[in-house]
Amino acid sequence: MNIAAFLKMSYGIYLVSTKKGDRLSGFVANTVFQVTSDPPKIAISCHKENASARVIEESGVFSVSVLDKDTDAGLIGLFGYHSGNEDEKFERIEYRIGTTGAPIIMSHAIAFFECEVVDKFDLGTHSLFIGKVIDCDMPHPEKDPLTYDYFRRELKLMAPERSPTYIDKNKLKKEHEKPVEVTGKDPGQEYICSVCGYVYDPIVGDEARGIPPGTPFEDLPDDWECPVCSAAKSLFISEN
Ligand code: FE
Repeated sequence: MNIAAFLKMSYGIYLVSTKKGDRLSGFVANTVFQVTSDPPKIAISCHKENASARVIEESGVFSVSVLDKDTDAGLIGLFGYHSGNEDEKFERIEYRIGTTGAPIIMSHAIAFFECEVVDKFDLGTHSLFIGKVIDCDMPHPEKDPLTYDYFRRELKLMAPERSPTYIDKNKLKKEHEKPVEVTGKDPGQEYICSVCGYVYDPIVGDEARGIPPGTPFEDLPDDWECPVCSAAKSLFISEN
């Protein structure tokens, strides 16, 4: 079985959020898809151990925000790789409470859907929730959505372990290999974040944090952190 075939399935990248009482919860999802048109229903898959799965079960509501292509990796890291205090996540972003009572994340949202759970299926590790769309809108129709393909290729991110589409990187052939333009100094090898799977590519650098292309991993400042999950430089391991 060539599991790299799964990487050819296309998805978007979404923020799913929910609320029960004072408890806010949210996570990054790529397995969000419309399953019927009349009435419109959306399915989402959520790991049973995610805090959000329990909150969706208790509240019976969730919202889905479609992220724009320019979403920074930090927002995805905040909702995709940081566990712990959910309230803190929401303190750092823009959101509003929708008609269902669930929060709608507005940061980098180009469209959103508010849903009421009408069905749930037990998939073993994950729960599949079917939500009837109660309302939806498009705050930024002019922007393009972030796709899972772009997320992997350009942002160099892999789905985390609890994602329904997680793939053990060790089982993949060198999918990320690309021709290296050798112009003088060899920028060295890629390093991978052991927490979230982000790959530091010395050819690309990390311009958002002032690291120019061509900077070897070894030359990064000691206080440099993973752009996605904020893990320390010491938690990166060599790709080889
Ligand atoms: Fe990381």
